Amino acid sequence: MKAADDIFIALPESTRTRLGELFSAYHFTESQKLEILKEEADLRQWKEPSFAENFNPDSIAMHDDGRNGERYMKAMRESMHHLRASETDYSAFFPDIHPRPKSKVTQPDKELVLSRCPCPVDGEKTRCCKLRTLDVIEQCAFSCSYCSVQAFYAENEIHAISNIKEKLLSLELDDDVWHIGTGQASDSILLGDDYGTLSGLIAFAEKHPDVIIELKSKSARNIFTRRYPANIFFSWSLNAETIISKEEHLTASLDGRIENAMRARDKGNLVGFHIHPMVYFRGWEDEYSAVADKVSAEFSPEDLFAISIGTLTFMKSVLKRLRMQGEESRILEMELAPAAGKFSYPLDIKRRMFSHVYSAFPESIRNGVFFYLCMEDPSLWKPVLGREYSCDREFEADMKRNYLSKKSNLAKIQK
Ligand code: SF4
Repeated sequence: MKAADDIFIALPESTRTRLGELFSAYHFTESQKLEILKEEADLRQWKEPSFAENFNPDSIAMHDDGRNGERYMKAMRESMHHLRASETDYSAFFPDIHPRPKSKVTQPDKELVLSRCPCPVDGEKTRCCKLRTLDVIEQCAFSCSYCSVQAFYAENEIHAISNIKEKLLSLELDDDVWHIGTGQASDSILLGDDYGTLSGLIAFAEKHPDVIIELKSKSARNIFTRRYPANIFFSWSLNAETIISKEEHLTASLDGRIENAMRARDKGNLVGFHIHPMVYFRGWEDEYSAVADKVSAEFSPEDLFAISIGTLTFMKSVLKRLRMQGEESRILEMELAPAAGKFSYPLDIKRRMFSHVYSAFPESIRNGVFFYLCMEDPSLWKPVLGREYSCDREFEADMKRNYLSKKSNLAKIQK
């Protein structure tokens, strides 16, 4: 039982001692022991009290019938379910974090590959805009606790692909490519043009004026001292202040992101926002309303191409990695319902969160900006946004139509 041993060794001594007592006192199967260890590891990561250490046998009716192990399991599962199903409480949670420094940037001579977004292939299970992705930078200097990018690349090294301009200019694009994002494997603007990435993307955008290139960020780095081609579109992921301070380590504040978006807008660029990943925590209604209020106070519908809404979705491998890493975080203190081969909040919680933030925007923004749900179950669209698409192609075509109309309005204003 290597997995069980690894988890056991990583637990605090007081928990190990108590578990030793419980394992001798009650009968548990090996799989029950593993489940107990995993739950204790989760509690430790969430900085919640150990269930084992606080377990009082007098609190449940124990009998001398050899089934007290089962009774313990039932009490533990109920307690864990209660924690996961309720809104996460961050009020007394101050993580002792040690963000991995990723100041080392190397420039490997790697081939550039245009990939598809991580939605399931032409699925009925999510509605996908068919974004294509281009990993011009790999790995990120920020340390969001829920990040899946960190799972794919070497821990402490950022790769800025070398000779990026030449590689971008020699990239062949199919006719159906119109929307490319560079923010899937890193933050798109954090390195600025230090490694020629922005210059390369500018040249690429000028070569393909009909293709929109989205640079997505959580950064306040000011790269808006120059003009960008009209088909480069800047977007910022926004979150509630509590989630930014407790889970999105090293990233810019909410105000810092919005101010940077204002700089982009003031230089004549279209901007957008991703309210993502929404987290179900105590106080979420007020804090996500505040996000919508801040955006609405500073931007008019003409400034904004799109606003997406989405939440936490984990692949099994990422869940495993986050648990093994053991960093203090409450991001996994949530119900993990199956969602298109991954795990996410149950649909009812998503519906409540997404509807709430959408209705927190004034009507002018709701009617004048293209809102969409990112990688979400198609059944959520109608109750949340009041519209839906029968297939991914329909969604993609509508998104493209909205983009072209915003772009042509912007061109008229700029003349
Ligand atoms: S900003 Fe994005 S890529 Fe960077 S650590 Fe956070 S989630 Fe990962």
